[in-house]
Amino acid sequence: MSQPKRVSFVSLGCAKNLVDSEKMLGQLVEAGYHITADEADAEVVVINTCGFLAASRDEAVEIINQVAERKKDGRLKRIVVTGCLVQRDGESLLGIAPGIDALVGVNNRDDVVNAVLAGASKGRKKRAAKVDQFLGEYYPRQDDDTARLRITPQHYAYLRISEGCDQKCTFCTIPSIRGPMHSKSADGIVAEARELVGDGVVEISLIGQDTTSYGLDIDGGQRLAHILRRLNSEVDGLGWLRLMYVYPSVMTDEIIDAVAECDRVVKYIDMPLQHISDGVLKRMYRRVNRQATEALLQKIRRRIPGVALRTTMIAGFPGETEKEFEELLAFVKTFEFDALGVFAYSQEPDTPAGRMKDQLSEEVKEERVNELMLAQQEVAFKLADRRIGQEFSVLIEGSAEDGLIPSRHAGQAPQVDSLTWIDAGSTDRIPADADVANIGRFVKVRCTSREGYDLVAKPVSINLPVIS
Ligand code: SF4
Repeated sequence: MSQPKRVSFVSLGCAKNLVDSEKMLGQLVEAGYHITADEADAEVVVINTCGFLAASRDEAVEIINQVAERKKDGRLKRIVVTGCLVQRDGESLLGIAPGIDALVGVNNRDDVVNAVLAGASKGRKKRAAKVDQFLGEYYPRQDDDTARLRITPQHYAYLRISEGCDQKCTFCTIPSIRGPMHSKSADGIVAEARELVGDGVVEISLIGQDTTSYGLDIDGGQRLAHILRRLNSEVDGLGWLRLMYVYPSVMTDEIIDAVAECDRVVKYIDMPLQHISDGVLKRMYRRVNRQATEALLQKIRRRIPGVALRTTMIAGFPGETEKEFEELLAFVKTFEFDALGVFAYSQEPDTPAGRMKDQLSEEVKEERVNELMLAQQEVAFKLADRRIGQEFSVLIEGSAEDGLIPSRHAGQAPQVDSLTWIDAGSTDRIPADADVANIGRFVKVRCTSREGYDLVAKPVSINLPVIS
């Protein structure tokens, strides 16, 4: 069979998995493949899967089987499946998705080119069941995420500072899929940030399963504050640096100070709490209680005035009593997070929580998710209304839609938070080189109103220099 040339790529799951997709895309381009966005035009489809929750696994299998339909008319030659679902389920996936031609685990990401090449001899390949399998055991690879073909828009990117996780949250499958935490070298992170900025990026979000523990596996010390300060002073042209996936029980004063003092670091912290009631936090093995959580949140707000706080909560954890849920609901109403994601607890078979008794019904979980989201909607609308009349900088996200230009202020993270729509008047009168007309430029605006979760604003000045 002649070697396939056109490859299409489906990237599922979280931002960490997206970085893996971008890296694999970079390797495929380097190997001479043409990446096509049109799946119907592809000879090979690579599907990078998520395996975190039952829902994400079902979604991945559904997509694989849908794509496999196209093999029937012979146009599609090969399906390569990579990512967390492969790492978790390996060969057993073939039973529910027989159209797969190659399986690539998360530790074998760098074998994607071999996997695309039918009958390739190189690489840690095992051929079984007519399927090429690249499923090596965990090894602390150096995670060189440079030379990516990025899927995110030009102006922002994710920089993964570590992969894997040493925390032991009882509901979570990630450590069993991604292995223990391994940090990238600090020099590697700075070099990668410079490469991204060289590629037109002005906003970098730092990600990992638990960014707070960065460095512990290098020299036993938490080095996130050091990384923030190095990126702040050594990456010219970087506009915004954003900190995501902070783990509360290991948050330090050094990290809080670095966020407060570094001018490129936006005053924004994403810190999943998952719950607030002591009983549930204990059963989740989050290693923090309510009192410590509240003290930490107060300290962050005191030390970083105007900081935007994003968190996520799980509703319906096994044994969550009405009283524990009411406690969580009251906390969300009173603490007022700038952004909140709520998930219904998902019973994952191979987790301690999955084996707990007192599993709640899907109805109860859904009810509690809705109550929390409603409470947060009220909070979000109130906080957004407080911004009306204020002036602040925004990053242009896209071109005008119905006369409004999408953008984000520093308290709005890409892909997960709300937007600020700029009403710059009739867009055809805006000079093409005006910042407001250019994605990735910073513009000063005054907020004039709110539309749902989003803000509406007018430009104050058109030209805003990036901090040099
Ligand atoms: S911090 Fe907890 S929830 Fe997050 S990846 Fe680690 S074990 Fe999972």
